This record gives sequence, structure tokens and C-alpha cells, in this order.
Amino acid sequence: MITDVLVMIRKRSRTVIGAALLGCCFMTPQAALAADCPGNPNALGTSRTLVVDPTAHPRIGTMQYPETLPLADHEVVLTFDDGPLPKYSNQVLAILASQCVKATFFTIGSQARFNPEGVRKLIAAGHTVGTHSQNHPLTMNKMPLEKVRQEVDDGIASTLAALNGDKSKLAPFFRIPGLMRAEIPEAYLASQGIQVWSADFPADDWRHISPQRVYDLAIQRIEAKHKGILLLHDIQPRTVAALPRILNTLKERGYRIVHVVPATADRPATPTEPQQWFMRPPTETIAITRWPKIPNFVFTATRTLPAPVFADMDWRDADILDHAQRARVGASVRTLWPQPQLTGPAPIATLPIPAADVFRIPEALDVTLLAARSAADRRLAQRAAAVPGVGASRAQTMSARQAKQPKQAAHQLPAAAHGRLHGAPLRVAPPAASNASVHVAKRTPRAEASAAGKRVPD
Ligand SMILES: [Zn+2]
Repeated sequence: MITDVLVMIRKRSRTVIGAALLGCCFMTPQAALAADCPGNPNALGTSRTLVVDPTAHPRIGTMQYPETLPLADHEVVLTFDDGPLPKYSNQVLAILASQCVKATFFTIGSQARFNPEGVRKLIAAGHTVGTHSQNHPLTMNKMPLEKVRQEVDDGIASTLAALNGDKSKLAPFFRIPGLMRAEIPEAYLASQGIQVWSADFPADDWRHISPQRVYDLAIQRIEAKHKGILLLHDIQPRTVAALPRILNTLKERGYRIVHVVPATADRPATPTEPQQWFMRPPTETIAITRWPKIPNFVFTATRTLPAPVFADMDWRDADILDHAQRARVGASVRTLWPQPQLTGPAPIATLPIPAADVFRIPEALDVTLLAARSAADRRLAQRAAAVPGVGASRAQTMSARQAKQPKQAAHQLPAAAHGRLHGAPLRVAPPAASNASVHVAKRTPRAEASAAGKRVPD
């Protein structure tokens, strides 16, 4: 009980703070808060008006595009397609008016021709009107540019005709019929400064489902994303039946309705940050790599390669192609691939016997390390270093002794270089610093002969 009261207080205070913030930052004269809704103090209302620049963000709606409207959490934009159709569009208008909610309508040109009064009613009620093609073809993704241009331009012209040609009343917003997006319509619309509107969630109200199902889908999908553009149709009885409950539930759950209008010369776009145009903006604390975009060259899309002619398939031997003839000839037909030439066993390669001097180590590289493994050798080396004159003869003695063990000396060097020598650490100092620790030994003639004799194979 106490928890419930606390939650209620917290909710109320949040609403008051939120409303105050919205009032100071986002409100424009067009926006109407719930409290301003005549005859309905509990109306959902329109929390703010968002002014967008279609050229800065030419495609929106996460059902198909990376970007969507820069909405805050729990903000929803309502859109209605395919009207005006008096029977249902008028009911939708009445429901929206009862909640003081502003929406965006995407009208079909042919519908506007039949019912121009319906278009004027949308404008008179303060809603935004965009277009949805002339005839609602579901093949815009396969259309050549000329047909796309005709559908878009005729749809705009028909809707404008209902508005006595007043372009200021028509938003440069377009929804592709059936959301059949493709590069040709998108590129054409962008070239005209028209924003393509996909959606963030539909309610499947064009399918043969119950109003309850429309309501469930709308609410479930809004709750899954917490914000976004809802796609509905003002020509469907199930939409009319579901809409009051959708609006009531949005109100109960703290959602707010945002009205979107296009930027004009005297109405600048609402300032936004680029990341606000993403449903889930990438976090700034996690490093990510953005690959460069692949440029969309026009010529790559239009260029076609020539079809190959038969002469290109030059098999050289026409007989090979003749199935029947090949069967008659049988095994006598040989492939044209080069056959390996096997002319007896391949000669075994023999290498020349290396000369003895190949194995002789140049004298300057014959480095003998005095820092040996045993303690006795270390003492010997220290004494040799301490007594000048004696050091040289001792060193000569040591090198002569080690020259008798050339294998061991040779094995010590690489091990020492890698620091893997066992026992006492072996320090290799440059010869100039101390000739006691590293000594370039001169081999005695006997040692040299012995070493050479051992290594040269016979
Ligand atoms: Zn449609």
C-alpha cells in the first residue's frame, strides 16, 4: 500500500518535472498539452512539435533505415496512410481531436482527387500532410525512374490540387507504398528534397485481424522500443476501433505524442545531435570501427556486360564439341593438354664435395668466452683480469684449453645469446670495455689443425 503511494507520488513528480522541462525547451505555439485540450482534461495531448530538415536526414524509420526521428524515450509519432477516405478518415480525425493529438497523414493522390475535402480537413485540424504516390503501386522497387517520377509527382500534384496549390501546406514527406524501398525512388525523392518515411513499428492493421490484435501489436511493439514512428492506416475500420484504446494506453503508460513538421525558411529545424537520429546510438565508451561506405556509383548500376558470342568459346577443335562424332572416334581423341615427357628415370642430382676451407671459421669470429661455468674458471678469469700482463698469457691458456673443445664452445654461443645458459649468468661485454670477459683468442697451429681435421668430412 505504502509502496503504491510512493510510486504514485514519484510518477506524478516525474510528470510535473517532465512537463516543465518540455514546456521550457520544446514547446512551440502549435503544441498543445493535455491540460489545454478542451473538454478532455485527461487527454493524451501533443507534447511537442519537432521540426525536421528533410535534406539533412533524407530517410528515416528503423524498419528500413539506420536513422529515425530524434525522439526521446517514451515519445511516439503517429502516422496514417492511404487516405483520405471519408468514412474512416473522419472518424480517425475525431478520435485524434478528442485527445488533442497531432499526427502525420500520407495521402494517396487518387484518393485526394476523389475527396479533396478530406485533405483540407486534415490541414484544418493541424495535422501534417505528406504523400504516398498517385496510385499506390506495390512495385516501386522495380520501377524505372520515369514511372517513379510520375507516381511521386502526380501524387503530390493531386494532393496540392485539393489545397489550391498551396505548397506551404504540404510537407515534403513521402512514404513508399508497401514500404517497397529501392535506390531509384529513394534517389529521386532525395533529389527533390523529399524525406522518405519508413516506420519504427507497424500494427499490421491492413491485414485481416481483429481490432484487439491491432491494439495488442501496436502496444507490444511500442513497448519493445519505447519510442518511434507508429504506422497505421486511416482507411481501415479495425484501426478506427483500436485507436481510442491505443491512445488511452499510451497515456496511462507515460508516453507522449510528438508532432513532426518540415523546416522552412522561417521555421528552423529543431537542434539535434547526430546520435539522436539513431534508435540505439553507439555508446561513446566502447571503441568501434566504422568502415568507409562503399560509394554508390551510378555507372556501376547501369552498365551491362556484352553477352558472349559462340566464337568466344574457342575450343580450337570443333570435333570435341560434336557428341556423336566423339563417340565414334572413341579413345583415339586425345586431350589437348601437354602430356608429361617421361624419358627414363630422372638423373640423380649429385652435389660437389665441399672443400675443407668451407668449414674454416675466420679467426676474427672465433670468440672464446672466459666466463665459464665452473667456479674455478671464474676465479681464473678474475685473476687474469686483475693482473696486467698475466691476464694475456692466462687468456691464451684458457683459449688454448677451450680450443680443444670446439664443440662445447660453439654450443655455448647461441645459448648465451638467448640467455638460456645454465649455471652462472654469462655476461657478454664488448671487447673494448674489458678484454678479460670476452677475448678473441688466437688458436695455436695445433688446435687449428685439430679443429679442421675433426670437421672436414672425408
Ligand atoms: Zn499505403
